[in-house]
Amino acid sequence: MVDLLGQYDNIQEQVDLKILEVVKSAAYINGPEVHNFQKELENYLGVKHVIPCANGTDALQIAMMGLGLKPGDEVITADFTFAATVEVIALLQLTPVLVDVEKDTFNMNIKALKKAITPKTKAIVPVHLFGQCANMEAVLEIAATHDLFVIEDTAQAIGADYTFKDGTKKKAGTIGNVGTTSFFPSKNLGCFGDGGAIFTNDDDLAHIIKGMVNHGMYKRYYHDVVGVNSRLDSLQAAILRIKLPNLDAYCEARKKAATYYTNAFSENSNITTPIISDFTTHVFHQYTIQIQHVDRNALHQHLLDNGIPNGIYYPVPLHSQKAYVDARYKEEDFKVTNELIDTVLSLPMHTELDTEQLDFIITTILNFVNK
Ligand SMILES: *Cc1c(COP(=O)(O)O)cnc(C)c1O
Repeated sequence: MVDLLGQYDNIQEQVDLKILEVVKSAAYINGPEVHNFQKELENYLGVKHVIPCANGTDALQIAMMGLGLKPGDEVITADFTFAATVEVIALLQLTPVLVDVEKDTFNMNIKALKKAITPKTKAIVPVHLFGQCANMEAVLEIAATHDLFVIEDTAQAIGADYTFKDGTKKKAGTIGNVGTTSFFPSKNLGCFGDGGAIFTNDDDLAHIIKGMVNHGMYKRYYHDVVGVNSRLDSLQAAILRIKLPNLDAYCEARKKAATYYTNAFSENSNITTPIISDFTTHVFHQYTIQIQHVDRNALHQHLLDNGIPNGIYYPVPLHSQKAYVDARYKEEDFKVTNELIDTVLSLPMHTELDTEQLDFIITTILNFVNK
């Protein structure tokens, strides 16, 4: 699905030198690399504060802790996403409330979001799934009406641009009260291990979160709040500093591959290609098609048999996962997610795909669906 070695090849000299430099510096934790990466990412995103942490799941958890959410508070998120989002809600003993998504963009359905709001609702977590932003203008409007926090899960969409109706542009993750991301190796900006970050323009929240990632300390050995230990290490930060200047080029390479796929499939009535909302760019963390009239699972297997990696993201809606079942959920409220789990297929998508590989993937798919 991804070609991490191919991407490394292009920056190998820089990376190898840097790794050696960090090793010899012995500043493995909270060294200057982490501080410099933080500043450079703030600059790239146009956000006041970036707080690096250990992974994207921690980032979500710490964001919710920082906002002071309390057990019993309801937090609304999408039914069709990676489980990390709902997991941290449950871990903090908040009440997850899952809502259906839109069939064309895979992102949170705004009508379903409105319907899910109760007096206990405290926050909304839009997930910018597969690389394009959810309808943030609508989310912000609802949040303002009901006095709710907005936490953007940007693990799959770092680098995407959102355009408001008045023409203002913002980077994904810098639109709500707080945004979170992951630097897991296969993400669009990936390190060589685990990593994550939290973004905010709110000075007070940034201060709270900076202590929370470090055992709740604002002064050494004085623990004012219950915190966690969640750090991005210097080696990962050093690698991310080399990759960050390439992020826009990485996104472009992904978009180019996506356009190539879309052109090849657009005339085919058995394949629905990704649709991009007009308020967002798409950085194609995943290139996900929907398969009609043909057995999706058989196509999945056929591609594997031909040596083509492909994934079903996601095979089970969160509301049906054993850990997250809730008597309040009604199947008719999750019509779209229940359909998508049987039709979606994510194709190889990374920065190193060449036309020969793309042609082989496309031909193999078309031969099967046109059979
Ligand atoms: C990857 C991912 C996460 C979790 O990130 P980790 O760094 O693996 O903890 C959270 N949310 C979404 C949508 C993701 O894709």
